[in-house]
Amino acid sequence: MQKHNFSAGPSILPKSVFEKASQAILDYNSKGLSLLEMSHRSDDFVQIMHNAQSLVKELLGLNENQKVLFLSGGASTAFYILALNLLKTKAAYVNTGTWSTKAIKEAKRIGHVDTLASSEDQGFNYIPEFEYVENCDYLHTTSNNTIYGTQYQNFKSYKSIHVCDMSSDIFSRTFNAQDFGLIYAGAQKNMGPAGTTLYIVNQEILGKTQRNLPSMLDLELQIQKNSMFNTPPVFPIYVSMLTLEWITSLGGVQQIEKINNQKSDLLYNEIDRNALLVGYAQKESRSKMNVTFNLTDKQLSEAFLEMCSSAGIVGIKGHRSVGGFRASIYNAMPIESVQVLVDVMQDFEKQYG
Ligand SMILES: *Cc1c(COP(=O)(O)O)cnc(C)c1O
Repeated sequence: MQKHNFSAGPSILPKSVFEKASQAILDYNSKGLSLLEMSHRSDDFVQIMHNAQSLVKELLGLNENQKVLFLSGGASTAFYILALNLLKTKAAYVNTGTWSTKAIKEAKRIGHVDTLASSEDQGFNYIPEFEYVENCDYLHTTSNNTIYGTQYQNFKSYKSIHVCDMSSDIFSRTFNAQDFGLIYAGAQKNMGPAGTTLYIVNQEILGKTQRNLPSMLDLELQIQKNSMFNTPPVFPIYVSMLTLEWITSLGGVQQIEKINNQKSDLLYNEIDRNALLVGYAQKESRSKMNVTFNLTDKQLSEAFLEMCSSAGIVGIKGHRSVGGFRASIYNAMPIESVQVLVDVMQDFEKQYG
């Protein structure tokens, strides 16, 4: 039976990417070698790294100062790395959920953190307003809150001191990437398999702390070595490159955004219409990547899950910290699969409404 994978991460990738990635494991480019056994210094891999970086630059419209890195360690290591590289006296954070909270915790190991605003008072179901205060080394936000299903609808320009965790919505919508000092994203939500983390660093923000950094955590050194100070996560970078090629072939981020808008409209319209469903996130803060909702009657949870699973729907359960349901509809999720979920919601209402 065809599955419809709504998992939050690791998550769905385009089928064509899975096929090409499989082939590369068996025989890369008809070389008679698997990509998994090839040197990361080989021309083939150097080309893969170059392509992946160029695709990021083109898709997001970066300037020459913005360098693209593919490192390991996940976004969770980035929380620490970014503070180590940027925090001299004081940093400003906005707390919009679990991931922001963790980012704040790691930064506090390095220096002083001001939390400008938090939505914890209402279970992180909205994006709070905040006033940016001058004289901070940087401002940190989390663009999309994977667990609660909230998302900044747009960004103000904070010059290049804006640092943003875009793990779960990078390449899903257009935005002015040149406004950011540092963007980072774990691959496994919207770009590739777990194992690599994308960093987009404006070089001008580096080199200000005078800290003696460990080599692997030093972004200036990683830029100098073009992400190859040590062996990079070769396969996750390759698969990410394939996904970036797929986005480009569809017409880029602008095109993907149109489809993403249709998908999220379809789902939210049903949640708002269906008497048995209620959205978790406040309307003005809703995420177009992670759609969170509850049943008005929690006792029907098992019945709803059962209907989902009969339709081939997987990964729909909410995060263990908030409960309820979450449909992650990343770039690779076809609108047909979203329609399958909407059909189940309507059947559910017919049966139990
Ligand atoms: C999943 C996620 C993380 C954590 O990513 P890891 O790569 O597992 O460390 C951080 N931030 C956001 C917004 C996420 O969705």
